[in-house]
Amino acid sequence: MTAKTRLAGVAGWPIAHSLSPLLHTYWLRQYGLTGAYVPLAIRREDFSIAVAGLRHAGFVGLNVTIPHKEAAFALAQDLDEPARMTGSANLLCFPDKSTIVGRNTDVAGLVASLVEEFGRDVVRGKAAIVLGAGGGARAATLALAELGATEICIVARNAVKIDALIVQLKPHVEASLIAYAWINWSQALPDAALLVNATPAGMIGKPPIDLSLDMLPKNAAVCDLVYNPLETDLVRHARARGLPAMNGLRMLMHQAVPAFTAFFGVTPKVTPALHEMLEKVMRS
Ligand code: NAP
Repeated sequence: MTAKTRLAGVAGWPIAHSLSPLLHTYWLRQYGLTGAYVPLAIRREDFSIAVAGLRHAGFVGLNVTIPHKEAAFALAQDLDEPARMTGSANLLCFPDKSTIVGRNTDVAGLVASLVEEFGRDVVRGKAAIVLGAGGGARAATLALAELGATEICIVARNAVKIDALIVQLKPHVEASLIAYAWINWSQALPDAALLVNATPAGMIGKPPIDLSLDMLPKNAAVCDLVYNPLETDLVRHARARGLPAMNGLRMLMHQAVPAFTAFFGVTPKVTPALHEMLEKVMRS
């Protein structure tokens, strides 16, 4: 590394599990770029001071993960449309010493991964389900709307959070957004072309998702934003029913593309070799 090395990283708490440093370092090597991308363990209460410090220390930007996406949104003076619509930013760029640009690349990352895995028409003119009402669910709702879903059912435990999501996103989407309390999940399933899990349920260390896929149509697809483990219970059950299913690793790779471009000036490719490398690391 030299004084010219471009520095970036991912801020979260905890951060040890993050695959982003591996992903960005893979691309730095592949494209022969001089740069570094590091994991940054930053507590919730230290986030704004840490961002100020990193910015003044010459970092070109940061990815931001749980629990900082809303704080990142609040810090940015300049926001792209997905960040404004979701109220959260997973990418902060520091174009100069006085400006913080906040972007949300989860929406584009999910769109790209759904298209790659299931095709561009997976929800076009159809109904879809989003489980959860947090930041991931907001990104998923916008992604499904962008792919032409006409009806998006938000199934979550907290009615206040569902209402807040719907009020926030309704002005930005043409699709009808319909609220379902978690206990009524079975009512949302029979018409859905795609079900997206945007809750952490099923992640290593968390209980599996409390819902059965039996009532999903035979040609529906399932997408879990969780990728640790690579095969969640939800993905396994979907495959056992013969439904096409994907985990969140593809989304993780695609949401990183605009971040890498912003940090290091090259638009990287999501390739099968990269996917394989990440899966291998997850299995080891
Ligand atoms: P969040 O803002 O904390 O929201 C989580 C949502 O899930 C809340 O609505 C919460 O409901 C609900 N929930 C939690 N546990 C649940 C359970 N056992 N059953 C039903 N609902 C449950 O989190 P987030 O940022 O949206 O992230 C959600 C998941 O998506 C995480 O696993 C995250 O890692 C993943 N994600 C992946 C990618 C990717 O690139 N693959 C990108 C973004 C997010 P309550 O409010 O009732 O607790």
